[in-house]
Amino acid sequence: MKDENFLKENNARQLWHPMGHPGEAQANPPKIITGAQGVNITDIDGHQVVDAVGGLWCVNLGYSNDVVKQAIADQLQELPYYSAFAGSTNPTAIEAAFAVHEFFAEDGIGRVFFTSGGSDSVETCLRMARQYHRLRGQPTRTKFISLKKGYHGTHFGGASVNGNNRFRTKYEPLLPGCFHLPAPYPYRNPYNETDPAKLAQLIAQAFEDEIAFQGADTIAALIMEPILGAGGVIVPDSSFMPLMREICDRHGILLISDEVITGFGRSGDWSGARHWGVKPDMMSTAKGITSGYFPVGAALISESVAEVFEKSDAEGAIYHGYTYSAHPVGAAAVTACLAETLRLDTKTNAAARGTQLFEGVQKLAEKHDCIGDVRGGHGLMTGIEIVSDKAAKTPMDDATMKRIHQTAYEAGAMVRLGAHNILMSPPLTISETEVNTILSALDKGFAAV
Ligand code: PMP
Repeated sequence: MKDENFLKENNARQLWHPMGHPGEAQANPPKIITGAQGVNITDIDGHQVVDAVGGLWCVNLGYSNDVVKQAIADQLQELPYYSAFAGSTNPTAIEAAFAVHEFFAEDGIGRVFFTSGGSDSVETCLRMARQYHRLRGQPTRTKFISLKKGYHGTHFGGASVNGNNRFRTKYEPLLPGCFHLPAPYPYRNPYNETDPAKLAQLIAQAFEDEIAFQGADTIAALIMEPILGAGGVIVPDSSFMPLMREICDRHGILLISDEVITGFGRSGDWSGARHWGVKPDMMSTAKGITSGYFPVGAALISESVAEVFEKSDAEGAIYHGYTYSAHPVGAAAVTACLAETLRLDTKTNAAARGTQLFEGVQKLAEKHDCIGDVRGGHGLMTGIEIVSDKAAKTPMDDATMKRIHQTAYEAGAMVRLGAHNILMSPPLTISETEVNTILSALDKGFAAV
């Protein structure tokens, strides 16, 4: 590796960073993370902190899982690449699809279509939803409904169903025929409804109204996260997803559960939809499928949707796929990661440590006026909304958010900023002591405001 001076001098000079301003990155160079062990990361200056971000909601097994690392290394020796496009396949892909299928059998998942990441998985589900309706003789069902504040990745389809303005406006025109319902977000919503169950009812009614307005026979699918992640960790009432499922069923609309974050234990169960007792028609997944060790995603298809494709005429051929769909090295990572996820029963620790983190932050909220709202309680997904005026719920300014972030970092925890929210999703293997380290670092961060 090049020496430290080279790295510091060239940081952000040639490399453009996702989700950031290239000029700002040059003026204020991002942290260079050089190593990681367990749940800790180390930067180029030797400063070690707990990674409360878990990479990017993805390093579910922590950084030191040797079983997954070895599986990747072995597969590189055995067969570093072969395509799974029609006409060929590879052994690890067959094994990985079997493992993913078993993992989500309780969710009604019947088939697995591998991708290179979350955005690809979302795109795959959206396209397959349209094709499904065509195969059933309903080609007018092309529209998509989603939630404001939802995040579904960065491809044109995903960006079109995204519910946050900043991911959309610069890239207009997006896909036509995408419509958004209010988020199940009691802290701020157009109805000023603070009761989560009543809010769920109001949004369900808005969904019904939108269907009546658009015409059910024009709508392909509803895509939603069971718990909204990047939008600020918005946990809906337990009635919300079942209500949406029932409306979808009544109108022949497919339900796509975007489980890129919530899948594989992060939400305290193996899937987010399982929390709410819902079986989706499709699921988009990524991140925890390999614990972030290799870029893999998967679109998962229910038995009943799969049958429509499999029993169809030539129109059922799927003209969609990625060079790296079912990549053998990625597939080896998937099989090893799922085996480790089950062996360590990560969902149980995620639930316990998630409660500890959530309750700890609630205690901090009694002490620090800048905390407007605390969200979580379902696994290791915690969101803190920071305000400059608690009564008026005024979003905190960027400079102050950066100060909280940097102070917390210096005090021992890397957290993530999403506008005026602090988002946390540490590895699911985190210990009680390490959660306390995050809480004490946050305490110092808020004290600096
Ligand atoms: N869907 C959801 C719910 C996500 O949180 C993300 C990424 N955070 C994506 C899709 C996109 O995944 P990727 O960044 O792997 O393309």
